[in-house]
Amino acid sequence: MKNVLQDLSFEQLESLTLSLGEKKFRAKQLYDGLMRGKKISDINIPSGLKKRLLESYEDEPVKIIKTLASSDGTEKYLFSLSDGNVIEGVLMKYKYGNTQCVSTQVGCRMGCKFCASTLGGLIRNLTSGEILAQVLVVNALHSRGKLRGVTNVVLMGSGEPLDNYANVVTFLKNISAAGGVNVSPRNISLSTCGLVPAIYNLAQEGLPVNLTVSLHQTTDEGRARTMPIAKKYSIDEILKACAHYFEKTGRRYIFEYSLIAGENCSAEHAQGLINLLKGKPCHVNLIRLNEVEERGLKAVSDRQAYAFMQALTDGGLSASVRRSLGADIAGACGQLRAGYLKGENL
Ligand code: SAH
Repeated sequence: MKNVLQDLSFEQLESLTLSLGEKKFRAKQLYDGLMRGKKISDINIPSGLKKRLLESYEDEPVKIIKTLASSDGTEKYLFSLSDGNVIEGVLMKYKYGNTQCVSTQVGCRMGCKFCASTLGGLIRNLTSGEILAQVLVVNALHSRGKLRGVTNVVLMGSGEPLDNYANVVTFLKNISAAGGVNVSPRNISLSTCGLVPAIYNLAQEGLPVNLTVSLHQTTDEGRARTMPIAKKYSIDEILKACAHYFEKTGRRYIFEYSLIAGENCSAEHAQGLINLLKGKPCHVNLIRLNEVEERGLKAVSDRQAYAFMQALTDGGLSASVRRSLGADIAGACGQLRAGYLKGENL
């Protein structure tokens, strides 16, 4: 696999251009082209420079090979990478802008029992440029004049972002760089299954992204039934790390809680959540389980989801049920890729 030019910051691109004996302004042309989602071969630079770059760098490291459009405006993409691996992403349209969900790894090694991304384990980390290029190509598709196509980004696709820490942090720096696509960290949410030491590290980076933690249970024993990572880090340690993150960044944190029938949505669970979270600067985002065939876990009805939310709000928590978008286009969280790998005709 060749290198990924989108891994580089503008300053690094400048050094590269100079080291190839080119004038500095070529770096700007190159950078502007890349940030518009262009292939190297389509950027207006001298052919000698193009040729030398293409010897070492991928022309198109992330390519959309399939798009599924929902009646609600949501679009799902299957991307291919230059080594033949595939990942998926989603663009959701809201009143305030377009939110893109990106993947950070091919597969995942966290092993959560409800999740399709982890079925085949971790294949490899994505480079920072492969994460960025997902946004660049989708942004290019949806930009209109000066209006950016992608205004918000969530790291909630395949993979555990904090298990690919260095590349994810580089991605966050590069996507929020002023001369590039310039998505502010405040418009970016990073979702983690709760890798506690990495949450402390992230708090030091000076990148105030929204921190989202997948909780899904109220006790460590219960959590360990569906999330193996619970054997390594306790809920108590997670809460302390979140409090530290809030102290450092001033950002309210969010807990994701996917409702699984018979597993985590009784009145006791609602009370357990209230006991854990009451008075903390956080929000609970209830997610309706996307049933993954191989997993055998069941979703709850909308009525049950809203009753659970009501119990939380009655108990003093801030909670909402996540709007379900794109339900007519092949589920969520790795299901598109899993279907593709199984040879389903999507
Ligand atoms: N690795 C990160 C990002 C995962 S995807 C994390 O663990 O947070 C974002 C959210 O979707 C997580 O809360 C994850 O637990 C949840 N999720 C995964 N599969 C799901 C499914 N089939 N139904 C509902 N939520 C799911």
